[in-house]
Amino acid sequence: MERINVKAAVIGGGPSGYAAAIGLARKFGGNSTVMLERQAKTGRKLLATGNGRCNISNENVSPEHYHGDENIIGSVIGGFNADALKGFFTSLGVLLRSDSEGRIYPYSNQAVTILDSLRNECARLGVSERCSFLTRSIRRENGRFVITSDDTEVFCEKLIIAAGSKAFPQSGADDSGYGLLKMLGIGYKEIFPALCPISTAEKYRSLKGVRARGKVTLLADGKALKETQGEIQFTDSGISGICVFELSRSVSEFFLKGSIDGVTCKKLQIAADLVSSLSFPELCSYLLTCKELFGAAPAGELLSGALNIQLSRVIAKTCALSEKTCSSLTARDIKQLASAAKRLTFTPSGMGSFSSAQVCAGGVGSDEVFPDSLMSKNHKGLYICGELLDVDGDCGGFNLHFAIASGLKAAASASGGGKSLH
Ligand SMILES: Cc1cc2nc3c(=O)[nH]c(=O)nc-3n(C[C@H](O)[C@H](O)[C@H](O)COP(=O)(O)OP(=O)(O)OC[C@H]3O[C@@H](n4cnc5c(N)ncnc54)[C@H](O)[C@@H]3O)c2cc1C
Repeated sequence: MERINVKAAVIGGGPSGYAAAIGLARKFGGNSTVMLERQAKTGRKLLATGNGRCNISNENVSPEHYHGDENIIGSVIGGFNADALKGFFTSLGVLLRSDSEGRIYPYSNQAVTILDSLRNECARLGVSERCSFLTRSIRRENGRFVITSDDTEVFCEKLIIAAGSKAFPQSGADDSGYGLLKMLGIGYKEIFPALCPISTAEKYRSLKGVRARGKVTLLADGKALKETQGEIQFTDSGISGICVFELSRSVSEFFLKGSIDGVTCKKLQIAADLVSSLSFPELCSYLLTCKELFGAAPAGELLSGALNIQLSRVIAKTCALSEKTCSSLTARDIKQLASAAKRLTFTPSGMGSFSSAQVCAGGVGSDEVFPDSLMSKNHKGLYICGELLDVDGDCGGFNLHFAIASGLKAAASASGGGKSLH
């Protein structure tokens, strides 16, 4: 059995683990820190982010873009805005740029730039990266932590767990991080998938692959709870796209708890406005013109000048007007079609799936860690960061921002560096 003695160890080689390892090594010096990764390579999920472009942060980072434990959100995000993140990556030699909606990407538009910069800084600082290290046990011995794999024992004074969530198993993610928490007797809030497609009771198979720009509204017992806009993508089991992802956390929460943000509700629906840039009267007037122009064409084609033809047909079908021709449509029919195009309704049929989720909601909360240090309340010298914590962000770079911010915060606390590193 190989024995390694270090000042500090980080379990997990994702963005939060790298940030933690860099923070520790900058403070403790060379050869002080080891990073233990279960998989053969570090950063697999990071490479998949932003469709390979890595949306690393957002100019609009603020606690309002996060969900979960408010104490941890306030402490981590309150002290680390977009400029702080840019400063960290400047220190790694990475150039970033923002798009028109405030999303921040590496200038190269490649996630690998971010991963390489973290890896290179760790190498420069003398952090030892140990891949294929599957933690079998963690115990305390003479005041130190002992982390054991099949063939190695790591002895350290400070331990940071950055093992991420089980979302998106295609990146090799599994629930072993939660296993480590259980091993240590650290409780966590029930996890559920967020930022994922939504399956619906309505299955419009002809719409598979169709996209439309619009607005989606989540209705709880008929009351609008949340509205987002962007590209709606239709799948064979429901709807997807970033604006749909933004509603998925609430949908999963509803199926798990029967409530959303603590408010009980019985029925959930999603209304899609597929022509959101026109008012209802404007759309009716546009359709009246189309009715004359399209004459003998089937009514299912009336909206084809504005929407994908398949979508136009589905809307006519939901109004039971498919059998008619455009010219035979009455004023009432036109209103019905306009209304359906502006409020195509879907009924979510179940919780999202971890396999297509970008993040997990739930995790370790401030009942288990001190929010201002991220240290475990029951294990002095042990810290938790990243997605294992009960914090999940909106789409748009907020989750990676949290991963980096919380990793640096845990490292600053563990190394006694206070705010200077964070
Ligand atoms: C497809 C996809 C796209 C995304 N795009 C974006 C985006 O553009 N912007 C954004 O902000 N967020 C995005 N996210 C979310 C973001 O990737 C995560 O929030 C972030 O990676 C979490 O970082 P982490 O370090 O906490 O965990 P992870 O990145 O999951 O890293 C944890 C690491 O720990 C390792 N590990 C787990 N258990 C153990 C163990 N027992 N022992 C040792 N190692 C272990 C894992 O193998 C992994 O390498 C995306 C997610 C997905 C799935």
